[in-house]
Amino acid sequence: MSPTRTAQLMDGTGPARRLVEETSTRAAELARRTGVTPCLATVLVGEDPASVTYVRMKRARCARAGIESRLVALPAGTTTAGLVERLRSLSQDPGVHGILLQHPVGPHIDERAAFEAIAPQKDVDGVTTSSFAAMSFALPGFASCTPGGIMRLLDEYDVDLAGRHAVVVGRSAILGKPVGMLLLARDATVTYCHSRTADLAAAVREADVVVAAVGRPRLIRGEDVKPGAVVIDAGYNPGNVGDVDFDTARTRARLITPVPGGVGPMTIAVLLAQTVDAATSQLGLTR
Ligand code: NAP
Repeated sequence: MSPTRTAQLMDGTGPARRLVEETSTRAAELARRTGVTPCLATVLVGEDPASVTYVRMKRARCARAGIESRLVALPAGTTTAGLVERLRSLSQDPGVHGILLQHPVGPHIDERAAFEAIAPQKDVDGVTTSSFAAMSFALPGFASCTPGGIMRLLDEYDVDLAGRHAVVVGRSAILGKPVGMLLLARDATVTYCHSRTADLAAAVREADVVVAAVGRPRLIRGEDVKPGAVVIDAGYNPGNVGDVDFDTARTRARLITPVPGGVGPMTIAVLLAQTVDAATSQLGLTR
């Protein structure tokens, strides 16, 4: 019998803490030089408990990093036109440097129309088509936060991506698709899988790097993980369970993210860093 491997954990809490510390130093330096505190406007529509919790968490992190956060809480019945108008007005407000629309918004709202009302220079959550295009062409702009956090985590653990086969499971506009583009930009050979993929297990078996971004508990079976692969689990399901069957996957992978404590902390850290980046450039300074 071959010896059982135990993958090294890709801890996201340490790198996220370091990024937040660096961001907070930059925020303080910016305030000292210009008298302006970077400000993130967080727009919440309705009172979905998970969204309320996420917004509260993001605002608390802003406060700790010396970033002002402005909560714009709108009633659940807000229309697309009403939300668009609010986002446009925040886009023009010189006191606001970054805008985050907490999503999903209600089904009666055209989410894409709302995202597009965010000025690209304030799109610190990287949700506009303009941000996606800039990211895909490696032009200046803001990456979607979770994909940006995943790339930082891969770099933190010196994962060499050039020529590797990366399999991204999930193709959402904020996670699967952009992380695939970022991996491609780093010369990985990228395969996307989704709900219509005929044989997910076969695709996963070919992966040097697996990124799970689905929202289905333990969908990726450990037995399908290629020995020595790098496994990034962005999934977050009730009960702190990821999209990868962690206990079996860690006996085959070389590196694996825990859930929680892997991708999650990196996402917020990137949001804060991008808010200070946005403030810096809007104030006419270089990063
Ligand atoms: P989403 O918009 O619901 O997209 C899910 C994707 O998974 C879709 O592309 C879907 O395919 C695909 N999918 C569904 N069932 C599948 C199956 N059986 N086999 C293969 N693919 C399947 O979700 P999301 O917003 O990208 O989020 C995905 C997960 O990441 C969730 O657990 C979410 O909580 C988590 N998340 C974590 C963070 C973080 O900071 N850690 C941030 C954002 C999201 P189709 O396109 O064909 O429908």
